[in-house]
Amino acid sequence: MNGKVDLHTHTSFSDGFHSPEELIKKAKAVGIEVLGITDHDNLAAINEATEFGKQFGIEVIPGVEISTDLKDKEIHILAYFVELGNPELERYLIFFREERLKRAERIVGKLKTLGLNIAITDVLEKAQNSAVGRPHIAQALLEKGQVGSYYEAFNKYIGNGCPAFEKKVHLSPQSAFKIINDAGGLSFVAHPGYMPEAILKELITAGVDGIEVIHPSHSPQQIRFYRGIVNEYFLLESGGSDFHGGKREDDANLGKVYTNNNVVEAMRQRLLKNSA
Ligand code: AMP
Ligand code: FE
Ligand code: FE
Ligand code: ZN
Repeated sequence: MNGKVDLHTHTSFSDGFHSPEELIKKAKAVGIEVLGITDHDNLAAINEATEFGKQFGIEVIPGVEISTDLKDKEIHILAYFVELGNPELERYLIFFREERLKRAERIVGKLKTLGLNIAITDVLEKAQNSAVGRPHIAQALLEKGQVGSYYEAFNKYIGNGCPAFEKKVHLSPQSAFKIINDAGGLSFVAHPGYMPEAILKELITAGVDGIEVIHPSHSPQQIRFYRGIVNEYFLLESGGSDFHGGKREDDANLGKVYTNNNVVEAMRQRLLKNSA
């Protein structure tokens, strides 16, 4: 198989714009054969996507993107091949979705104090059944005419360090690695280009299984650099478009930023070896 492999995408079960079915169709249209779905704190898209994937000849790799905290920095960890319905993992995902909801309520409270006209119900309407996040708040602000653009919402109000910003409750990376491995999956540092190299080294020491080498935010030099680290520390490699769709206007990344089946094979081999 030599089709495109995209291991980092989001659906409407987190902050992505498209339903699992729409995402599968879009992936098919750009020549993707293997699709990792990695919603934030949510595995709910996987079963549905797997079914639609079968219809369209796309293999779906179960994944999830978990937010962790290291030295006050938000570190995203991607998990692949986790067992669906693993009780411990599910318990954490439910806890984090509940914490996200409480945080959205705090952010809306701050926005109201700042004089913006928005209610939590406006946000939940955007989030539907998904893990509620700042993108939903940005969309709600835009639709209520409180900001001129999606990005203005972040830059003026809800971006990191802005007046209505609120932190999320996070796991430590070590706890995330353990939960992921105990659920039969593999852990990866997502988009390492966003973090200092020292943090990446700490995550390697803490036992992460691999690094996301290919990501739209990475330059060719960074891709070479992270691949070098993968080889040096005998880690696994992953890669994908981090496609969300909708207001992000990142459609161009889908089918353009991708990896190949060798990286998936290496993951399967590692899992076989772990279970031997
Ligand atoms: P949350 O998980 O609720 O903290 O939301 C994080 C999401 O918000 C990420 O997936 C980002 O894509 C998006 N985001 C964070 N900061 C910004 C920003 N300054 N501009 C646009 N999007 C952002
Ligand atoms: Fe996201
Ligand atoms: Fe991320
Ligand atoms: Zn992502």
